[in-house]
Amino acid sequence: MELQIAPTVEAAPIGETSPPKELVAWSLEKFADRRMVITTAFGMEGCALIDMYARHDQSVSVVYLDTMFFFQETYELRDRLVERYPNLEFVNRGTTLTPEQQAKQYGDKLWERDPDLCCKLRKVDPMRPVLQEADIWITGLRKSQSKSRGQIRVVDWDWQYQVLKISPLATWDRKQVWEYVKANNVPYNALHEQSYPTVGCTHCTKPVAGASVTDYSREGRWNGKEKTECGLHGDGI
Ligand code: SF4
Repeated sequence: MELQIAPTVEAAPIGETSPPKELVAWSLEKFADRRMVITTAFGMEGCALIDMYARHDQSVSVVYLDTMFFFQETYELRDRLVERYPNLEFVNRGTTLTPEQQAKQYGDKLWERDPDLCCKLRKVDPMRPVLQEADIWITGLRKSQSKSRGQIRVVDWDWQYQVLKISPLATWDRKQVWEYVKANNVPYNALHEQSYPTVGCTHCTKPVAGASVTDYSREGRWNGKEKTECGLHGDGI
């Protein structure tokens, strides 16, 4: 499907409650000469965000970290997004540590014994060089995703990676994301329709009973453990 490229939008006063589309246009204009990167794990929010950026004629890199534990549905979604948005560059910057090497060095099923270390090896550390090469980090975080995410700001400084972070969807709820996705025919992970509100690694993601596409919950992640976040966003997020 061909995308309508949005006309250049004049910089408007931007605040924490500005609509996502305005924030996207503002970020592109304000930081046109900076290195900007969208990172995504291909959740519904990331897909909506990718669509919003793809509607502008400035090319932005979309970086994902293939943990080598993605669901097949996630790889299929990645391929659909690449096909749908040829004006964006999709780059895998995931770890080169294979599951076999990890098992040899750290023992079998590290995700069960020490999921924080597993996430560090496969997500948090690989993200470091990505963000060292970027000036602006665009994320699909939303405040209502969890209590800890309630603290995020649309424009913020990320202390962990020392980079300016912009989260245009911060004030949206899941229903608004879903409505955008449906209205714009944005590709999304088929697992969302099988009671997976979020989709991470196969070892650490379970369906949530009764969850529909408009329900967001982190209940199915690291099921049975206190951990609810991979640590990419600092401060327990
Ligand atoms: S989500 Fe699970 S398998 Fe994936 S990196 Fe984290 S602990 Fe490892």
